[in-house]
Amino acid sequence: MSKKILMHTCCAPCSTYVIKRLREEGYNDITSYWYNPNIQPFDEYKHRLETLKEYTKMVNIPLLIHDHYNLNEFLQAVANYNGIRCEYCYRMRLEMSVKYAKENGYDCFTTTLLVSPYQKHDLLKKVCEELCREYGIEFVYYDFREGYYEGQQMAKDAGLYRQKYCGCIFSRDEAEFQRDNFKKQEEERHRKNREEQERNKRQKNKPLKE
Ligand code: SF4
Repeated sequence: MSKKILMHTCCAPCSTYVIKRLREEGYNDITSYWYNPNIQPFDEYKHRLETLKEYTKMVNIPLLIHDHYNLNEFLQAVANYNGIRCEYCYRMRLEMSVKYAKENGYDCFTTTLLVSPYQKHDLLKKVCEELCREYGIEFVYYDFREGYYEGQQMAKDAGLYRQKYCGCIFSRDEAEFQRDNFKKQEEERHRKNREEQERNKRQKNKPLKE
């Protein structure tokens, strides 16, 4: 009989490959668990949750929703945390999920966060290992990152909403700042190229001295 696994799910696009891979590995009793108070602002939170509802129906996976959103609470907790922001964020979400798995008869646990090359993978894995040890439940680990691009393509093919940042408002600002910087660098590169081409053209058309 297949083990009953609780899969903490950060969003639908990240779940595509993870579900496929878990099924290939013989996990046929998968439950998706939503607990992501780190996703901000609220319209983004709702959008990602609605997308997950849509996708879990498409792939026939039960979805448990722990619906909790409180921007002030998250910001205050991050400000008071004695460590890096993402560690707080992983622990907060995953502890709730692992605890739920343990108290509700699941055999094992994993998270779709493990698929993203943009996450702090080693830290994430360490947090999962610690929590699963503490609560006495098996942690199912695969380096799902190898299927990240395949999963993104699956999400695209399924017409799912794909967000442009990790989740918190800090990550939204950081992503926008990076995009903006990249755009400025590209514009500068094009400007220099154009100037170079014009210089070369002028040089070519210059009459030769007798
Ligand atoms: S960047 Fe992502 S993992 Fe880190 S705190 Fe923000 S939402 Fe959480």
